[in-house]
Amino acid sequence: MANSTRQIADNVERIRERIAAAAARSGRQSSDVTLVAVAKYVDVATTRTLVECGCRVLGESRPQQLWEKATALSDLDPSWHLIGHLQRNKVKRTVPVVSLVESGDSVRLLDELNREVGERAIRLPVLLDFNVSGDVSKHGFDTGELERLADRLMSWPHLEFRGLMAMGGRTSDDHAVRAQFARVREVRDRLQDRVPSGIRLDDLSMGMSGDFEIAIEEGSTIVRVGSALFAGCD
Ligand SMILES: *Cc1c(COP(=O)(O)O)cnc(C)c1O
Repeated sequence: MANSTRQIADNVERIRERIAAAAARSGRQSSDVTLVAVAKYVDVATTRTLVECGCRVLGESRPQQLWEKATALSDLDPSWHLIGHLQRNKVKRTVPVVSLVESGDSVRLLDELNREVGERAIRLPVLLDFNVSGDVSKHGFDTGELERLADRLMSWPHLEFRGLMAMGGRTSDDHAVRAQFARVREVRDRLQDRVPSGIRLDDLSMGMSGDFEIAIEEGSTIVRVGSALFAGCD
């Protein structure tokens, strides 16, 4: 455990250096990019280690895991992002523990989130999940759907739309990955022109262990890094 703690601390430090360097290449500062430490591969104890290594924002793709870890780590008070599909029957328990739902992927989910959040008289930050690769096995909106949504974001007054979340398609071709991230940014720019004033789609959540530097160079403000945090641990 002590060894893996040191390994994780080293990994976090390296990743932060790489984030800072990529941010500098895109004319920004490391503070302009949020590192979401994706904890879905590890147990509660190792997730605790992540927070102790300075990761204040954690990501989980499964709601139940998120609830369980949020309870177990409440003494450390990290922020939680949900990054995976949320079924509507899990909305009630998820809303009170997350600071950002990155995976706003259907109109029905947005309806349910808005209703739940409205009852609590709070507001909830949400990203729209853009299925940029067009992969039919993935959740999320396509470009046309996003454009139609842009005209009606006011119909969810309790949700605070902050931008887009996207995943690069399965390819090891850096040029193709970069082109996809650039496309996410372009779609966001077009949506920003359409949405009612007052809504700021400033956030682009894109980039994972294998491609976060390219994503930052293309304008990402949130990177979701999982496996690279645990490299060298067994
Ligand atoms: C698992 C996951 C990640 C992290 O992926 P790594 O390649 O392990 O860094 C990021 N985003 C989403 C939505 C995920 O499900």
